Amino acid sequence: MTRRNIRVGIVGAGIIGASVAYHLARRGIEVCVFERGAGPAVGTTGKSFGWVNTLFVDPADARVFSLRRAAVEEYERLAAELPGAFRDASRGSLLWKATPGETENLFRTFRNAGLDVELIAGAELARREPFLRSVPPCALSSPKDIALQPPALAATLLAAAVERGAKLFTNTQVISLCASDGAVTGLVTASEAIAFDLVVLAAGPWTEELLRPLGLSFGLLISPALLLRYCSDRRLLSHIVKSPELEVRQLPDNAMIVARSLKDPLPDAGAIDVMGREMLRRIRALVMDSERIGFEAGVIGQRPMFPDELPRTGHAAGCKGLYLAIGHPGVILAPLLGRLAASEIAGGAAPW
Ligand SMILES: Cc1cc2nc3c(=O)[nH]c(=O)nc-3n(C[C@H](O)[C@H](O)[C@H](O)COP(=O)(O)OP(=O)(O)OC[C@H]3O[C@@H](n4cnc5c(N)ncnc54)[C@H](O)[C@@H]3O)c2cc1C
Repeated sequence: MTRRNIRVGIVGAGIIGASVAYHLARRGIEVCVFERGAGPAVGTTGKSFGWVNTLFVDPADARVFSLRRAAVEEYERLAAELPGAFRDASRGSLLWKATPGETENLFRTFRNAGLDVELIAGAELARREPFLRSVPPCALSSPKDIALQPPALAATLLAAAVERGAKLFTNTQVISLCASDGAVTGLVTASEAIAFDLVVLAAGPWTEELLRPLGLSFGLLISPALLLRYCSDRRLLSHIVKSPELEVRQLPDNAMIVARSLKDPLPDAGAIDVMGREMLRRIRALVMDSERIGFEAGVIGQRPMFPDELPRTGHAAGCKGLYLAIGHPGVILAPLLGRLAASEIAGGAAPW
């Protein structure tokens, strides 16, 4: 059974909400997206490093690994469908661990799991990244990884959804969900209550705020991370580079970004400044000709995740009319989750 004639309201225009909206609109389903910010990607998506990869999951964790792998492969489909979305994206990452033995082990693990990775010698690494100051004996290369600008991708997905009839309401906070007899029947903004056949919660780390009044909780965890931005007047790196000290990449405008996980208590502005300068020291230790790089700013983003590292995409258990679309790492997962969610909402099989 297909359900084309339903009206779907989506809360949140981050990368996940944008992807669900695009994939629903592609199927001709009526969609309204509500975003409290002035535009898309003002939440965690706007603070993301934008690395699409399969490198941080243990292949022995078969469910998480196969999902991550399928999600990365899904990007090829999306790139063919929306080539403009990837204008500023680049390919390839280079990674090494503290010792050559650890790097070789990592390479073997991923190669045996069937990933397209190579182990390259230091001389080859230096050829691919000629500005590296300290070159390890070997590195793992993952040539198909994508470095993209998540806000740009979210905006493109939403624009493509709008072209197909979706409506986007920005500066529109969803204050609560309408519920009756244990089912969600719509949502409430500051100005009106609007009925929907289905409400998709894609509000990232804020999802549970809307669930709480309904007495629901799905065990969402919030994990903070810091995105640091540096100005640079020249091109110094061609790939994402991850060393034991630093995860760094250069944007199309030459700015560099560095991502760091954080623990509570969260750093205040002064502590972020200290971390930003420490990372600048590490950039300079890693990259030659980097004296003119300057620290600009650091922002904290809240990563919505679940303890089993799997997303929650599907009809909410125990509550009709409500659909969850949350998962980490959201940028990697968004195209796959969006397509599967749209398929299920349209009457297809559940994502998993
Ligand atoms: C420093 C850092 C680096 C990261 N690096 C990567 C990476 O390399 N690769 C990767 O895949 N992931 C990465 N992530 C994680 C990734 O960014 C998130 O998983 C993803 O952005 C989550 O997207 P989302 O759409 O679920 O949430 P969000 O982007 O937070 O979107 C939720 C949206 O809902 C809106 N909203 C919330 N409540 C309401 C309401 N009541 N009414 C209306 N609107 C509402 C918010 O304003 C927001 O725009 C990183 C995160 C951080 C912080």
